[in-house]
Amino acid sequence: MIKISGDMNVRCDECQEIFTIHQDDFESDGCLTEGPMRDDLMGSQTRYDYIYVGECENCGHTFTVKVSYYEYPEGAYNYEEFDPEGCSILDKPSYKVIYE
Ligand SMILES: [Zn+2]
Repeated sequence: MIKISGDMNVRCDECQEIFTIHQDDFESDGCLTEGPMRDDLMGSQTRYDYIYVGECENCGHTFTVKVSYYEYPEGAYNYEEFDPEGCSILDKPSYKVIYE
């Protein structure tokens, strides 16, 4: 599986205040395995979702950050997606591949 490794800095869209979200503050939002595709010899792709719902400490504005990591083939980082709502991501955290 792939986990967030490191902190993320975000800026509130309302008041422009900058915050740090720690990796431990993200909650796992499940994982989804797709495939294998018909012509796919490398197996299936798994998506790991993480979510953070918080409030701006300055203005009380609620924001959400969703992070998805795609593992393909198994045990390898493929790509990542960030989906912030109500805030902007200033720097993306790194990731960590964990072998089970
Ligand atoms: Zn704010």
